[in-house]
Amino acid sequence: MLERKKEIELELATLASQHNPDILSPDPSDQAASASFEDLAISLEQRQREEYDRILKALEMLAAGSYGICVDCGGDIEEKRLLVYPNASRCLACQKAYEQNVC
Ligand SMILES: [Zn+2]
Repeated sequence: MLERKKEIELELATLASQHNPDILSPDPSDQAASASFEDLAISLEQRQREEYDRILKALEMLAAGSYGICVDCGGDIEEKRLLVYPNASRCLACQKAYEQNVC
């Protein structure tokens, strides 16, 4: 978990340093290509930020000693569920009940 966080921090730093759009590109077709690449880089960056946020939240929960513990019933959250939702705060049963109450 901590290693993945470092990896993402590194990727974000790399993306940030690459974030220098070349406005003075002389070839118009080059410009179009770099613009779409720019879009791609931005969406990639957003996805990574989201993942980074998820991991950060999970790390906070881990530090607080509540990681993997359901906030509703106090039971363990399924490991499979934590792999998909690292910041899950409820076990599957409580999450379903919670969603039903919300809707
Ligand atoms: Zn529960």
